[in-house]
Amino acid sequence: MELWQEMVRDSVHTVDHVVEKFGIDRKTAEDLDEFFQARINPYYLSLIRYPGDPIWLQCVPAKVELEDLDAEEDPLHEDEMSPVPNITHRYPDRALFLVTSQCGIYCRFCTRKRKVGDYEKISMKGLESAFKYLEQHTEIRDVILSGGDPLMLTDTMLEKILQRLRQIKHIEIIRLGTRMPVVLPQRITTKLVNMLKKYHPIYCNTHFNHPWEITEESSKACTLLADAGVPVGNQMVIMKGVNDDPAVVKELMQKLLRIRVRPYYMYMADETKGANHFRTSLETGLKIAEALRGHTSGLAIPHFVIDAPGGGGKIPILPNYVLHMDEEEIILRNKTNGKKPSKTSPNGKPERKKVEEPVLEEV
Ligand SMILES: *Cc1c(COP(=O)(O)O)cnc(C)c1O
Ligand code: SF4
Repeated sequence: MELWQEMVRDSVHTVDHVVEKFGIDRKTAEDLDEFFQARINPYYLSLIRYPGDPIWLQCVPAKVELEDLDAEEDPLHEDEMSPVPNITHRYPDRALFLVTSQCGIYCRFCTRKRKVGDYEKISMKGLESAFKYLEQHTEIRDVILSGGDPLMLTDTMLEKILQRLRQIKHIEIIRLGTRMPVVLPQRITTKLVNMLKKYHPIYCNTHFNHPWEITEESSKACTLLADAGVPVGNQMVIMKGVNDDPAVVKELMQKLLRIRVRPYYMYMADETKGANHFRTSLETGLKIAEALRGHTSGLAIPHFVIDAPGGGGKIPILPNYVLHMDEEEIILRNKTNGKKPSKTSPNGKPERKKVEEPVLEEV
């Protein structure tokens, strides 16, 4: 057994464990276990500093999860976009390939709670029909290995999947959607990255939510990936009590760049059964987006999106910088507008600019 596998085995996961460690009453712990099991490996557990902190909230089962059980179980309607088991095909040229139901920890905010941790829902039996689907659909040029967490597979199993995908000519890029660099960085070994680099171009998207998750171990994991030529991106979810604060997000984004992780998406939390206590207002999200743009490196700024159910997909949200636009003029607002005077707007009024073509800034 490799170290990371031992660490998964040594996770806090039974009802007894949860009661003992976190002082949750037994009946609640049983109900929570029934709803979505706990799994907190010793590494992630060691990042908790005090009860209810941003790390704790992400992994320790909480009674509030049992309060909104009539909310959507599949908020993104992913199951409707699954033509064969293990495949979610929502966008024309790219597809999600679910290769395992297991993860290095179970996140309390997960939008795939209905499947995660359940061997029946994402099973190895579906792999063959998934490969067939990917072979037949020549429009798919980008395959995202997901789950669960694809890095829960052994190196051998993962390599078999990569080999098979690389035999499909129309698949140009392969992405790994994994939280392992954050929650169990010991999984990223030299052996793993040496295997991955045989199958380039491989990209990785991970999921840091808070600056405390950037440690010596997680920095090393991201360095190993980057040194092996795997670009690492980050998808963050805005969550109440975890990171719904512009200063926290800015710190996280800047620290990610230092470990060569490029912020990619920042999501509003989706409406999910048992996770609605994490949701924040759109206004909070916009405040965070505004606090980044112009205030730090463009490289540190992720696309801010809401993931809409079904065909909706990821919808970009922009703070409103265009105050008025008609055929003659466009009125833009800059980052300091209304807060402190600048040369171009001495009295804090919006800056007026005549332009031929409206120019919109892309986030
Ligand atoms: C997010 C997502 C993708 C990838 O989207 P990108 O914008 O290309 O990163 C692909 N399939 C599904 C189902 C998704 O939710
Ligand atoms: S690692 Fe991802 S899939 Fe697994 S529980 Fe966390 S959010 Fe869900």
